Amino acid sequence: LIQIMTPLNFLGVMYREIRQALVDMDEMFNLLEQPAEVTDKPGARSLEVSGGEIIFDQVKFGYDPERPILKGLSFRVPPGQRVAIVGSTGAGKSTIGRLLFRFYDVTGGAIRIDGQDLRDVTQESLHARIGVVPQDTVLFNDTIGYNIAYGRNDATQAEVEAAARAAHIHDFIAGLPLGYDTQVGERGLKLSGGEKQRVGIARTLLKDPPILILDEATSALDTATESDIQGELNAMGRGRSVIVIAHRLSTVADADRIVVLEDGRLVEEGTHEALLARGGRYAELWSRQSLDEDLAA
Ligand code: ATP
Repeated sequence: LIQIMTPLNFLGVMYREIRQALVDMDEMFNLLEQPAEVTDKPGARSLEVSGGEIIFDQVKFGYDPERPILKGLSFRVPPGQRVAIVGSTGAGKSTIGRLLFRFYDVTGGAIRIDGQDLRDVTQESLHARIGVVPQDTVLFNDTIGYNIAYGRNDATQAEVEAAARAAHIHDFIAGLPLGYDTQVGERGLKLSGGEKQRVGIARTLLKDPPILILDEATSALDTATESDIQGELNAMGRGRSVIVIAHRLSTVADADRIVVLEDGRLVEEGTHEALLARGGRYAELWSRQSLDEDLAA
């Protein structure tokens, strides 16, 4: 029995990890042939994105019914704006991204994109219009070209290269003996954290979605790489509605709006300057983080 259980267990663990990493659920289900928890309604329509306004309206959710994580959360991402979600560890920031991608359904309230409740649209159309740059980009044991084009099978080599250039990884790839045909993954080339993130950025640029979820990397990148990548992420966000799941505050100061999450609810909202001037929860998180950074320096 143990022999049978172990691989199943492994698959279970892998499945959960990948779901946590916010990759394309459709692909996951194809790979593992697991039924989706969330299914399309009969007659579900395709999501039509015009401006890309996102509304969380009194959203309630918990992974376990006994333990609510979001307790009536409301906020709005106006079309084309960048909204950062901050809050202490475990506050539910990544959960917001997972709900927007509809990995789970809300248990109360609603999430709407341009007026359409996520439960009324097809998952395929939803996933096609939302790009996710996860904390840790999942790479497949295939060529680096395949990994960038992943999700856009019809992309031409010129399109793949243009995306790689914009993500500042083209020169690195072009310098490899096999270029875009280089194998990556377990048996191939191992990419650094920053290189993997750039593959993730290139992949998302190629998909060209009107809505973006940036699940900010917590992995340690050196400061120079981090600020370069931040610049590339900012450039990618222009003209799109962006939700930044911010695990650190240093990168959110220039967001159009910052939503402060506490105990499953919004406690403060505003620009970095306005929130600092207010001297509330955000100001407290900010001064504590600055102190931690000073101590670490
Ligand atoms: P951090 O900044 O530490 O990453 P976060 O604000 O992003 O935290 P979430 O990942 O949204 O937090 O998690 C919110 C709560 O939900 C946590 O208490 C976490 O333990 C719990 N949680 C997250 N994923 C699951 C899951 N798949 N099943 C059960 N509980 C979960």
